[in-house]
Amino acid sequence: MADYTKEITKRRTFAIISHPDAGKTTLTEKFLLYGGAINLAGSVKGKATSRHAVSDWMEIEKERGISVTSSVLQFNYDGYCINILDTPGHQDFSEDTYRTLMAADSAVMVIDASKGVEAQTRKLFKVCAMRHIPIFTFINKLDRDANDTFDLLDDIEKELGIPTCPINWPIGSGKKFRGVYDRDTRKVLTFSDTMKGTKEGIGEEISVDEPRLDEVLDAEQKEQLLEEIELLDGASAEFDQDLVNEGKLSPVFFGSALTNFGVETFLEHFLKMTSSPLPRTADIGVIDPVKEEFSAFVFKIQANMNKNHRDRIAFMRICSGKFDASREVFHVQGNKKMRLSQPQQMMASDRHVVEEAYAGDIIGVFDPGIFAIGDTVCTPGKKYAYEGIPTFAPEHFARVRLMDSMKRKQFVKGVNQIAQEGAIQIFQEFMGGMEEIIVGVVGVLQFDVLKYRLENEYNVEIRLESLPYEHIRWIANKESVDIEKLTGTSDMKKVKDMRGNPLLLFVNAWSVGMTLDRNEGLELAEFSRN
Ligand code: GDP
Repeated sequence: MADYTKEITKRRTFAIISHPDAGKTTLTEKFLLYGGAINLAGSVKGKATSRHAVSDWMEIEKERGISVTSSVLQFNYDGYCINILDTPGHQDFSEDTYRTLMAADSAVMVIDASKGVEAQTRKLFKVCAMRHIPIFTFINKLDRDANDTFDLLDDIEKELGIPTCPINWPIGSGKKFRGVYDRDTRKVLTFSDTMKGTKEGIGEEISVDEPRLDEVLDAEQKEQLLEEIELLDGASAEFDQDLVNEGKLSPVFFGSALTNFGVETFLEHFLKMTSSPLPRTADIGVIDPVKEEFSAFVFKIQANMNKNHRDRIAFMRICSGKFDASREVFHVQGNKKMRLSQPQQMMASDRHVVEEAYAGDIIGVFDPGIFAIGDTVCTPGKKYAYEGIPTFAPEHFARVRLMDSMKRKQFVKGVNQIAQEGAIQIFQEFMGGMEEIIVGVVGVLQFDVLKYRLENEYNVEIRLESLPYEHIRWIANKESVDIEKLTGTSDMKKVKDMRGNPLLLFVNAWSVGMTLDRNEGLELAEFSRN
């Protein structure tokens, strides 16, 4: 076996997914704290912090003076090398958020215990489920009044369609939060208020059979716990590592990221249950991360917003072997040997040039405009390509009006380039040409990015008229459907994408179902593979 086997098998690369405010940033910070990557006592964010249109990382960076900008944080913990992928939320939510999930081997889903599954959790979960990666649930904010625990699990199962397996179980919530019960050890880990994480907790582990537990729980809480344990043991799914690996069962943990409770327990269990870098499928078959030589694919391209620096950074997920900066690689789609320029890696504490990296790691490389999302680079002599990254359904649409028709040429060039980078998607009338362009984006901020970049980089002014569509579907079986004859609802619009694929736009979800009903045999998809 190659000498890099050990390095690869200790890697864990995952994304944290959640609805804004569920506690993703707080949980990430606590992970970093355990990894010894940062030292902080207490909560990072002040109430007055404004977080408009800046990613959480940049915000932390500003406040803590550490450079965590960008896509990934790497740190070591207990013999593991951990890569956490950032999935931007808030105003930064964009198609990149979905693409980042393509680079993860598993996902941690953070849920607010008083809210349950929320809109953005649902969207991100769907993408993880499509890839069948393991999904772990951390139910957060138990120090606040929470929903009934069984209801929370029910919500996940019904809303997301994944069975759950609680690894531990909360005792009370809010002012009555006493800790969590570990189902495997039958011990209660007691909660002690850390004053929002500013003081070290002095939690104890007490077996459920020890009388001492009565000092922590009142009679009512103890009775309830014993009842719930019995119910659980009889009714809930048993832990099954194979099902977890296939993304068919989600282990569930409870805690409170802010007060630092249940985080380390979660991290320890999670690291054992999640997987080291997973094999990925290329056109020649499955590529083993450990046995094969270097290969990687591009999952995100970040254009520089500063027009004095037109450079871009291509983010690559290493899928197999070892990356050695001194060696040439082969860019499959460009059919060219090259040296990756200025390869960088983001550690929790700094961004630095890397000499070597391993399967599971993410590197950002300087891109002079040659890479496209989904491209493969591998060891020279090899020539395989990884499965492309799907195009995800935009949720906001606008018609683009060009202010000066003399600038048509620059305009077409600009929108095409920006679309190729993956910031926006462009559509045309199904029977029309480029005279009318509709842009679709996953996150609304991308509209501003489009306008800004067209003005600054292409000297083209545009006006965007927002359109009421919210749902878009690719026609999955376009060969067997006569698009012109499709009968939809009155709000439906037929369009095509850059590659000529037919799509349908709808104002409401109800119309999607109606159109399916009216056209027998029609198959619609929420993402496109080509
Ligand atoms: P994100 O948007 O998912 O990254 O969420 P943040 O980590 O920024 O948290 C959102 C808010 O919830 C912040 O004010 C946090 O201090 C707070 N928060 C996070 N975790 C907890 C928790 O366990 N308990 C309580 N009470 N508040 C929390």
